[in-house]
Amino acid sequence: MSKVQIERVETVIVDLPLRRQQRFAAIGASTTAIVLVKIWASGGIVGIGEGCTPSGPWWSGESVESIKLNIDAHIAPLIIGRDVFDLRGISAEVDRKLFGNPFAKATVEMALLDIQGKIAGVPVHDLLGGKQRSSLPCSWPLATGDPGEEIEEAKEHLAQKRFKLFKLKMGFLEPETDVARACAIAKALEGKASVRVDPNESWDEATCKWAMPRMADAGIAMVEQPMARWNVDGFARITAQTKMATAVDESLCTMDDALRLGRMHTADLVSIKVMKHGGLTNARRIADIAIASGMSIYMGTFLECSIGTAAGMQLAATFSDLPYGGELSGANLIAEDIAVRPARYENFELQLEEGVGLAAEVDEDKVEALRRDRSRLSIAV
Ligand SMILES: [Mg+2]
Repeated sequence: MSKVQIERVETVIVDLPLRRQQRFAAIGASTTAIVLVKIWASGGIVGIGEGCTPSGPWWSGESVESIKLNIDAHIAPLIIGRDVFDLRGISAEVDRKLFGNPFAKATVEMALLDIQGKIAGVPVHDLLGGKQRSSLPCSWPLATGDPGEEIEEAKEHLAQKRFKLFKLKMGFLEPETDVARACAIAKALEGKASVRVDPNESWDEATCKWAMPRMADAGIAMVEQPMARWNVDGFARITAQTKMATAVDESLCTMDDALRLGRMHTADLVSIKVMKHGGLTNARRIADIAIASGMSIYMGTFLECSIGTAAGMQLAATFSDLPYGGELSGANLIAEDIAVRPARYENFELQLEEGVGLAAEVDEDKVEALRRDRSRLSIAV
């Protein structure tokens, strides 16, 4: 087969309203934003990718603005003219010349894998090792801070058979209030749903030692990244003490993180995310390192719209064992999506779409309607 050259790269920021306010430990958001990248290859084939952050740069330092700038100014000039199938060569070149910025790199790689799949006539999961599952149980974020409202929201999702796993975003309330809220929700949903919590680095070790036995007694199944990302020793001690499963997120982004934290058994599970690992292929490698070190994997998210959700599902399809499922539920939180076919949540699971590449398509009219006004520098949160 002759070389398939990358010819053109285009990025656009799209602002998307959320169905309701989403509170995180650091911010509250009523909108999110994505970077839609389109890459043209010789032969007229176009690949798409979505770059996404959790409504701003608080998680990793990257923002949709920095993702767009780094792709336009630093990644596109390096990859134009290169063979779309030379993914390792492209990654090595980009890594040499642009330090960090895994979200920007992941956005581009997603579009390149979409092109590869379209040329080969196969879905991306076939490029990543093959399909082990056709659907994924996903957790829904409970993140308003009002336990009465949150219990009603959970019951509505249970009645609609969309979600029966729920993850509380914590850390924006005082620990006593927050733990009481989590325990009340777990009690109200006992026997009907699995409840997990994510304080996003808000607590110190002493708070964890106080809070975690209470949450374990209330039946909460899993706690994700309660302490600062640098405090992996403290996290390992908490993991050894608690009856709950623990999941590491912010502390584990790279392959060497996976090796180091796996050896320490910092946590029982690793939240695998396409964006933070720098792409689908790296995410698959990091998952394999984690599994080899005795950790289980969990399919994480930054609340992508249906394009990024489709990419996450292509990766999740290659995982045979996800004991706590995943959380690719962003597409259901976004009120107006830009995909022709929005992500489908049926029988409590996200469904894998059949098709080539990412099996996702952009609705150009919606992109035009929602693309960011060039005069605006940032979104209100
Ligand atoms: Mg998290």
